[in-house]
Amino acid sequence: MTEPAEAEERRARLAANLAEVEDRIAAACRAAGRERSEVTLIAVTKTYPASDVRLLAELGVRHVGENRDQEAGPKAAECAGLPLTWHFVGQLQTNKARSVVGYADVVHSVDRLRLVAALGREAVRAGREVTCLVQVALDDDPERGGTPPVEVPAVAEAVARTEGLTLGGVMAVAPLGEDPAKAFARLAEVARSLRADHPDAKIISAGMSGDLAEAVASGATHLRIGTALLGRRKPFVR
Ligand SMILES: *Cc1c(COP(=O)(O)O)cnc(C)c1O
Repeated sequence: MTEPAEAEERRARLAANLAEVEDRIAAACRAAGRERSEVTLIAVTKTYPASDVRLLAELGVRHVGENRDQEAGPKAAECAGLPLTWHFVGQLQTNKARSVVGYADVVHSVDRLRLVAALGREAVRAGREVTCLVQVALDDDPERGGTPPVEVPAVAEAVARTEGLTLGGVMAVAPLGEDPAKAFARLAEVARSLRADHPDAKIISAGMSGDLAEAVASGATHLRIGTALLGRRKPFVR
């Protein structure tokens, strides 16, 4: 197959996937009595090339998410000039803060004070303002990252006080093996108490390909959708 034909085929596949995801989001909003405009779709493009990001942008996607700095940095550079907001959704080591702050508009995975300090330092150095979401651990699995709910106020307060950072709200990944609706209900409660102290921290980033309806039902404002848009990812080999 010639290259243009391959690109055409990929565009058609992404367009069909996007239409299907939009249908699911619309249905979830209707069921929850919410407006579609209350929910932002983030295309999680990890493991997929910059050419896919470009096609998605042409199809109207305005938010993209990545979870590994080594991959995201070059991809964001290749896509410079596209009208995109970049979200960093993966676990983040403090030594990557400088790089991530260079391209990420929103960091979803802020889960400890040292990371807040590193992001703030690098944001100021770069002259950037970075929106931070406190990642909430909805289970006890340290592998998946996140702040235990009781520690969320302290991390949020630190973000709010740090120059270069804006507190946007909360993020979570539903635990494996639990009804996502129950997990997202706990997240909604954490988000509600956070807003009592920080009224502008309205973002609730929750919901992936498998649980977007439950997330919308619990008040998610941002959905992070990978597989349903781009296809099954190859297993990641370290
Ligand atoms: C990969 C990833 C997603 C997207 O997951 P899918 O199930 O492919 O939609 C969402 N959030 C985070 C943090 C991710 O790493």
